[in-house]
Amino acid sequence: MYRDKLPPCNNACGTNEKIQGYLDLVKRGKYLDAYALIKEDMPFPSVTGRVCYHPCEQACNRGQYDEAISIRAVERFLGDLGQALARDVVKAGTPNGKKVAVVGSGPAGHSAAYQLARLGYDVTILEKSPKAGGLNRGGIPDWVLPQHVLDREIERLVELGITIKTNTEVGKDVTWDDLKKNYDAVVLAVGLIEPNSARAEGENKDGVFYGLPFLRDIGMGTSKVKLGARVAVIGGGNTAIDCAREALRQGAVEVTMITVEANPKEMPAVPEDLHDMLEEGVELIHKRAMTAVLGSGKVEALLLHPARFAGAINASPIVVDREARAERFAVDNVIIAVGQRASLGWLPDEFKTERGTIRIDKFGRLGDTNFFAAGDVVQLGSGQPLMVVNAVGDGKRVAFNLDKVLRGEALQPRSIPIDVIVDLNRMNMTYFPHFPRVQQALLPATTRRKTQKEVIQAFTEEQAVEEASRCFSCGTCNACDNCYLVCPEPCIVRSVRSNGLYKILVDYCKGCRVCIEECPTGCLEGVPELDFDTGVVRMDTAFAISQGLHGRQAEELRNLADQPAKSI
Ligand SMILES: Cc1cc2nc3c(=O)[nH]c(=O)nc-3n(C[C@H](O)[C@H](O)[C@H](O)COP(=O)(O)OP(=O)(O)OC[C@H]3O[C@@H](n4cnc5c(N)ncnc54)[C@H](O)[C@@H]3O)c2cc1C
Ligand code: SF4
Ligand code: SF4
Ligand code: SF4
Repeated sequence: MYRDKLPPCNNACGTNEKIQGYLDLVKRGKYLDAYALIKEDMPFPSVTGRVCYHPCEQACNRGQYDEAISIRAVERFLGDLGQALARDVVKAGTPNGKKVAVVGSGPAGHSAAYQLARLGYDVTILEKSPKAGGLNRGGIPDWVLPQHVLDREIERLVELGITIKTNTEVGKDVTWDDLKKNYDAVVLAVGLIEPNSARAEGENKDGVFYGLPFLRDIGMGTSKVKLGARVAVIGGGNTAIDCAREALRQGAVEVTMITVEANPKEMPAVPEDLHDMLEEGVELIHKRAMTAVLGSGKVEALLLHPARFAGAINASPIVVDREARAERFAVDNVIIAVGQRASLGWLPDEFKTERGTIRIDKFGRLGDTNFFAAGDVVQLGSGQPLMVVNAVGDGKRVAFNLDKVLRGEALQPRSIPIDVIVDLNRMNMTYFPHFPRVQQALLPATTRRKTQKEVIQAFTEEQAVEEASRCFSCGTCNACDNCYLVCPEPCIVRSVRSNGLYKILVDYCKGCRVCIEECPTGCLEGVPELDFDTGVVRMDTAFAISQGLHGRQAEELRNLADQPAKSI
């Protein structure tokens, strides 16, 4: 019988994009269908195609075989195709007469607003900054995500009928009571907007910057920062890397990153970004903590002490050896990038957690109210990595939960177990020749370190198709016709003279298992002869209704199983 399984890439993506489905469509040249499929779960593939830390690729089964599929690059190819369309494929839902406010226009708010508009809600985004986008604008630098790409995605929200009110801060311009009074429901997606201190003496001196406002002001176009020649960045994570690389582009000559981690491998950073930063000439100093900023009025040097984590790296307190001899490290500026926290002075105390985030239940709801929260402001400290795609997925799920609550439906956790196929032995690898991953071109390090031009270049159409064709289609039929060709009996039938729609007539099946053995994707399974005494009904299975679209295919499959064989 046929059983759809979940590819590990889909499972690892924070918003569960149907990756196998769109790779299959790209392979067949059906780009618009692929774009439409991605848009079910992702409002801005042009953005995530550039910025996502791509957990899907870490999970990709092809990584165990040769090299993981470059999923993000194919996503960017589709996102850019969507950007070029005069009208988007996605439409607003039929108006249901209900009003929802979304507070914050970062990835979580963007995603929630997008899905709610598709469900027919009248959505207003309230954003305190002068421009919409959250950290996509005021965090992620232009040389990763050009502003015009984000602008186009924000335009798409407006085209869906969403109102965006910038320079509108909840807690100042709009109160908690206003939200309750004026909207049927509210999504709080306010992120982490306050930078953490490094708790060093003299942090208030001139020439000391915090990573988040440093990048935010540049992104919003309001920065007045002039950096000196020597800049130190405190921190070893992705934000610190962005700060160090941006410092070069803002005129610094020597940039040094000072981290507690003992070596580059321990740094909580995306390896490619770390590699690209080092290529641009940033230096690393490990096992050090900044304990003081020295200088009269303006920073002149930093005091560094040996430091290490008390226990697990990046998950335990930092121990600073203040008895050891301190080093004096001369700098003109220092950028502190050691994490962010939320600013929730306006939120009733009952909805605050001890770790300074918003208290929600497992559906993202604040108690039994019509308020929901999503994104970094709930995920900080939850074990969930803080990244754009996780905020997008959170916003999506909360939008659907909010819809259920307003329609009076019960909120229920997922109860059907999913079968994630991660064992290559469950597929037939003899059908997959080894091929290297198609690489994205990069601007040369010597020129890119001085410009705001995008560092990573887009795939051409040929590259996108070539890379999509490397996908194994793990656990999901991609209509390869193998089972149809190898079955020695007339068990596997298809409706037309081309691949795409099959049915297994189990009455003719003698259980030779050839189709199971020969299926490259591991979606066929043997089941024991069904026992009529237990009331189990012997049933044909039909599959590959629409090529390889996981989930939707399973849905159609459920309906078709009841239909007589001659109907296909
Ligand atoms: C410098 C930096 C670089 C990053 N780079 C990447 C990357 O390359 N890839 C990746 O996947 N992740 C990256 N991340 C993480 C990622 O940006 C976040 O996980 C994601 O943006 C969280 O989305 P969010 O919507 O929850 O919050 P945010 O993006 O922070 O958006 C919150 C929004 O709410 C608004 N807001 C806050 N309070 C109020 C209020 N009271 N009233 C109205 N509006 C309010 C804010 O102004 C902001 O626009 C980066 C993070 C940082 C700090
Ligand atoms: S959004 Fe990120 S995790 Fe999801 S498919 Fe795209 S690159 Fe992968
Ligand atoms: S080979 Fe394809 S379906 Fe399998 S995990 Fe990788 S991208 Fe997903
Ligand atoms: S052999 Fe090919 S057509 Fe048959 S089930 Fe497997 S993937 Fe689908």
